[in-house]
Amino acid sequence: MIVELSRLRRQAGSRRELRFVLDGAQLAKRDAAWRFPEAPLFEGRLEHTGGGRYLLSGRLTGTAETDCARCLAATRLPFDLEVEEIYLPQHSVDELNRTDFGDDAGADGELDQEAERALPHDGQYLDTDPGLEAVLWLALPPVVLCSDDCRGLCPICGCNRNTDSCGCQPEPVGSFSALAELGRLLAKTNDE
Ligand SMILES: [Zn+2]
Ligand SMILES: [Zn+2]
Repeated sequence: MIVELSRLRRQAGSRRELRFVLDGAQLAKRDAAWRFPEAPLFEGRLEHTGGGRYLLSGRLTGTAETDCARCLAATRLPFDLEVEEIYLPQHSVDELNRTDFGDDAGADGELDQEAERALPHDGQYLDTDPGLEAVLWLALPPVVLCSDDCRGLCPICGCNRNTDSCGCQPEPVGSFSALAELGRLLAKTNDE
């Protein structure tokens, strides 16, 4: 959501309550692995803390959906995330990006850390979505299972072993022969 800053920027401490949903279809375009059957809802506020620094805080809730890494079943993951994102004027962010943070990590270390991940605004408008998306993408796990003991797909016939019993007999020697092959290769390398 684009927030017009003219009223907030006049005085430090001014805040605006916000409640809106993110566009789930738009989010899914950014990462094809995820779908958002329930549009993420943000409830919180934007506060001008002074000197052009804005704090976006609140909660982002919703449901994300992806495929189980083992059986590919659609798997839903409800989320309830704490949001605390800092926005600084564009020129400050540019300046900070040019600064080498490694050099003066001392008393200002904490400030630097905050500034390092600050998002820009142009003084007139502030886009809340990059901050909210950053929180969301960081929270979504790289690997999702439909359940901890998901049995996955049968390597021989491809059926879902959670719901079907195909009776295939995967050859346990498979892994041993692969190891044996590796051993042969290593032995060969050592001989040379
Ligand atoms: Zn699964
Ligand atoms: Zn099978």
